[in-house]
Order: sequence, then structure tokens, then C-alpha cells
Amino acid sequence: MKELCPAEALHEECGVFGIYDSTGKTNMVSAVYSALYALQHRGQESCGIAINVDGVITGHRDLGLVNEVFTPQVMDGLPKGGKMAVGHVRYATTGAGERENAQPLTIKYVKGTLAVVHNGIIENYGRLKESLMKKGYTFESDTDTEVLVKLIDSCYTGDPLAAIMAALAKVRGSYAIGVLFKDFPDEVFAVRKESPLIVGYGEGENFLASDIPALLKYTREYSILDEGDIAVLHRDGISFYNEFGQSVKK
Ligand code: GLU
Repeated sequence: MKELCPAEALHEECGVFGIYDSTGKTNMVSAVYSALYALQHRGQESCGIAINVDGVITGHRDLGLVNEVFTPQVMDGLPKGGKMAVGHVRYATTGAGERENAQPLTIKYVKGTLAVVHNGIIENYGRLKESLMKKGYTFESDTDTEVLVKLIDSCYTGDPLAAIMAALAKVRGSYAIGVLFKDFPDEVFAVRKESPLIVGYGEGENFLASDIPALLKYTREYSILDEGDIAVLHRDGISFYNEFGQSVKK
């Protein structure tokens, strides 16, 4: 299977966004739409939104610009409630610019469901994919991101942070990711390594984003994640951990 060379790794783009709103006042889908619109310059091939409403992750993704994919009819068909959502605008780096490679990628297993948005390149995704296939995982896209999603799932035994850390310990490459777990409707996880990622502080709601324009509608206060940092957006604010899982202050 093809492994990416470092030169290709320089071409990464894509935009990610995530929101956790403890108050329930914000319409998740509209918030992600606005943020993706502001990040449109980072990815114009496809886009998508995933939302967790009462433990059910649904969403929509397709080829096209944000305003082409999320027409008023599509917006109307998406859930109105929920306190957490993630979104993505894509330029393909691994796998063609096709619909099945559009993000967010979500998976459904007996163990649970999660959704991931990813900017970056998992360089050793070929080998990871082979070992996941030996464990019985099947793949619907050609992307490194799907390998990452299923790697996290394979490490998941009920503790989302531990699963993300265990999965990322096996990964070589770059990533800025946002993760929703179906069973954790009050936490959104963000991690970065060699791809940009910031978290923003709103009123009763917090955000993750690739870039500042996605946050401007809500806040001017943000922190830049350091290499390997993990941020957890939750009811009481944002908690930060280093790559070893130790709590750190921002
Ligand atoms: N490698 C992922 C994909 O092709 C993310 C794209 C990127 O960040 O460039 O979907």
C-alpha cells in the first residue's frame, strides 16, 4: 500500500471546526455552516457536518462548496437540537476528491459510534489499515482519515481520551482532529500535531478550529494548541492535556 513521502505532506490543507454548547441556545448546524463558510479557502472539494443529538450521530457530507452542499432543504433536514457538532472542508491529500472520501467520517459498531474531522496526513496509514483489516475492519473510503477513525475505535474500551491517545501513539504523520463520541454527549476532543488547531472561548460554548476566521462570529479569545496537545471541550470549559495525558494549563 502507498506510503506518503514528506514532500506530499507539505501540501496539506483542509479546515476543521467543532463546537460544544452547554446552554443549548446555539443551533449546531447553523454554527458549523458559518464556520465552514469562513474556512472555505482551506478546502473546496467537499464538506460535511456531523452532529450528536442525544447519543445519535447524524450529518451530511458531499462534494461541493459549503453553500452548494448545505442548501436550505438540506439544512432543514438536519437535526435542530444537540450540543455538539464537528465540520470539515476538504482538499484531498489521501484518496481522491470523491464523495465517499468526504468528511466527517463516522463509524457504527456494536462498541459505539464516533465521528472524526481531520486535517493532515497519516503517513503510515497503509500499514495501520492492513493490521485493522486483519482485526476484521472493512473500509468504505480510500482515506488515511478512515484508518484513523477505525484505529481510535479499535482502541476504545469506554474511555475516549485513552482511546485517542493509544491510537495516536501508533500514528506517524500530521493531524489536527476533532472527535465526537456517541456515548459522550458532553465532550468534544481536539488534538494536534504538525497541523494548525486553536480552541476558542465563548459564552457557555467553546470551539475548536483550524483558523481564527471560523471563530470571529463568536469570540476573539482563543488558545493555540502546542504540539501533541489534547483539548477537551466540556460543560465547565476546556481542559488541556499534553501528549502523555498529563493535565496542563493554558
Ligand atoms: N488526509 C485527509 C484527506 O485527504 C485530510 C486532508 C488534508 O488535511 O489535507 O481527507
